[in-house]
Amino acid sequence: MAELKNTFCWSFSQAKDFAACPRRYYWIRYGSWGGWEDMAPKGVKLAYRLKQMKNRFALAGIAVDLAIKDAVASLKSGREKTFEDALDYASSYLRKAWIEHMEGRWAGNPKRYVCIKEIYYGEFSPDDAEARNLWASSIKEKVETCLMNFFGMVLPKIRPLIAKGELVDLSDPDAVERESFALGGIKIYAMPDTVIVKDDSLSILDWKTGRPRQFYANQMETYGLWAQCRHEVPPDRIDLTLVYLPDGTCQKVEYGPEIARRTFNFIRESVQDISDKLVNGDIARNEPLMMENFAQTDKLEVCAHCNFMELCQRTFALKKE
Ligand code: SF4
Repeated sequence: MAELKNTFCWSFSQAKDFAACPRRYYWIRYGSWGGWEDMAPKGVKLAYRLKQMKNRFALAGIAVDLAIKDAVASLKSGREKTFEDALDYASSYLRKAWIEHMEGRWAGNPKRYVCIKEIYYGEFSPDDAEARNLWASSIKEKVETCLMNFFGMVLPKIRPLIAKGELVDLSDPDAVERESFALGGIKIYAMPDTVIVKDDSLSILDWKTGRPRQFYANQMETYGLWAQCRHEVPPDRIDLTLVYLPDGTCQKVEYGPEIARRTFNFIRESVQDISDKLVNGDIARNEPLMMENFAQTDKLEVCAHCNFMELCQRTFALKKE
């Protein structure tokens, strides 16, 4: 089998990681590369294992996402799922994640089996019933509310579009290449939740399980650029909507030629900042400078939510919260 190559690519979430902490970007993109190999150095294996870890926000987000995808796929094949079905689906993922962590198989196969960040870093003990219930109920409440709002608000809107075949299935294996576009020879990843194509216009609906943040709107703008570059849709025919599932609010995100230009410049500057940390700034070679060139953030509140505290020797950040 041909050797996997770590090629340079850009996505909004990678740019966010780099801006929050360049060292975090280093661990994700370079320090963990090859950590799946049996013969990988110990530090690389550890970085790879930490990278896969999930905290409670990620677990809730994945559970909601899986349940929604299952409900949409069922609807497409003519079977309607209820809110209760979706909740069962999400809960079974969460139960499985808990069991996987407790069985410890993630140590040998971190990609396949879940390791829970809060337990790994001792933020609560699974033997402490009160702390365990508090942790579990915060996830359960979020998942329930998000799914309730999806079934109450989003599904009624997309149901007729599914029936008319206007909803594009990005999870279709044949559509894999649709999740990226090229800009100046660089692969840019963009993967909206829902794409609706009608006549000559394209609408993107993206749902979030977190609270409203400006960077979600900026991420939507990169999806606008994706629609423009990948699907050749004119900017004035692109419609972007964010749905915040925890409170059910919708936010229209403006898009037009000026925003497209600004987004393009943002990507270009971000690529430049990142490539400054590469040997000779060479994106094609994509070899990082020494780790020390990727600065560590001095914001301990950022470290407290980061998977790489062990490698950065910053577990003390948890005590500062
Ligand atoms: S622990 Fe802190 S310094 Fe280290 S990668 Fe994470 S955010 Fe950056």
